[in-house]
Amino acid sequence: MKIQLVTVAGSGVLGTQIAFQTAFHGYMVNVYDISDALLEKAKTTFSKLGEAYQQDLKATPEQIEKTLQNIHYFSDLAEAVHNTDLLIEAVPENPSIKIDFYQKLAAVAPQKTIFASNSSTLLPSQFAAATGRPKQFLALHFANEIWKHNTAEIMGHSGTDAKVFDTVVAFAKSIGMVALPLHKEQPGYIVNSLLVPLLGAGLGLLVKGVADVETIDKTWMVATGAPVGPFGILDVVGITTAYNINKITAEKTKNGNEQKVVDYLKTHFIDTGKLGVATGEGFYKY
Ligand code: NAD
Repeated sequence: MKIQLVTVAGSGVLGTQIAFQTAFHGYMVNVYDISDALLEKAKTTFSKLGEAYQQDLKATPEQIEKTLQNIHYFSDLAEAVHNTDLLIEAVPENPSIKIDFYQKLAAVAPQKTIFASNSSTLLPSQFAAATGRPKQFLALHFANEIWKHNTAEIMGHSGTDAKVFDTVVAFAKSIGMVALPLHKEQPGYIVNSLLVPLLGAGLGLLVKGVADVETIDKTWMVATGAPVGPFGILDVVGITTAYNINKITAEKTKNGNEQKVVDYLKTHFIDTGKLGVATGEGFYKY
C-alpha cells in the first residue's frame, strides 16, 4: 500500500496543521470542509502556518510556496476523496457529527482508501461500523502545533488490518512525525490519558473557586518546571474542543462539578467567541 494522495476532512485547528505538514513533506493534499467560506478561512490559516514554519523550522519561502501548491480545496466530499489513498478525519469532536461524516464518506470513497481519525477522546471501535471498511480504519492522532510537537499516536481497533496499521506508521514517519504505536485501544491514547485529567483538574479548581487562573497555572509551572499551566494549554488546544470533551464527560458521569465546568466554558468563552489563541483571546489575551 503506497500513500500518494491524502485528503484531510475538516479545516479547523488540527485539520489545517495536518494538511500543511503533509503537503510540506511532498504529498498532494486535498482539504475538505463543509463550505467554501471555511476553505477561504483555511487559506488564511495556511499562510500563518507558512510563517510559523519559516520561523520555527527555518523553512525557505520556496518550500512554503511548494507546500501551498500541493494543497487543493474541496467542499464536495466525493470530489475530495476521488482517488485518495488516505483520508484523515479532523471534524469536530462530536460522535454524531463523526458518524454522519463516516457514513457519507463510506458511500463515496474508493475501496482502496484508508480512513484515519484524529479524534482526541473517542475510540476507533465507536466508528468502525459506520466506515463500512473496519479493516481499513484506525486512529492517527496528532498533537496541536504538529510541526513542533511532532507526535503521531497510531491506534487500531480490534478489527484493524495489521498491514494498514504498518502503512499508517510508515506514513506518519514520512511526514516527520515520531510514530507512537499503541497496542490496544485506550481512551485518550497516551498523551490525553495524561493531559485531559490535568486540564479537568485545573478547570475544577477554577469553577469551585479554589484559586484563579493565573495562580493555578503558576503553581503548575513553578512546581514542575513546565513552561505553561493548564489554562495556557487550554488556550492553545482551543476552548471549543475542551468544551466538547467536557460536555461528553458531564453527560456520561452526570457529575454536577463537570456540568459546572461545561456551563462556565459556555458562558465565558463559547458564547463570547473567546476561543483561545486562535481568536486572540481565551483565558489569556494574545
Ligand atoms: P475545529 O472545531 O477547529 O475544526 C473542525 C472543522 O471541521 C471545522 O473547520 C468545521 O467546519 C469542520 N466540519 C464540521 N463538520 C464537518 C463535516 N461534516 N465534514 C467536514 N468538516 C466538518 O476542531 P479541531 O480542534 O481541529 O478538532 C478536530 C479533531 O481533531 C477532533 O476530533 C479533535 O478531538 C482532534 N484533535 C484536536 C486537537 C486540538 O488541539 N485542537 C488536538 C488533537 C486532536
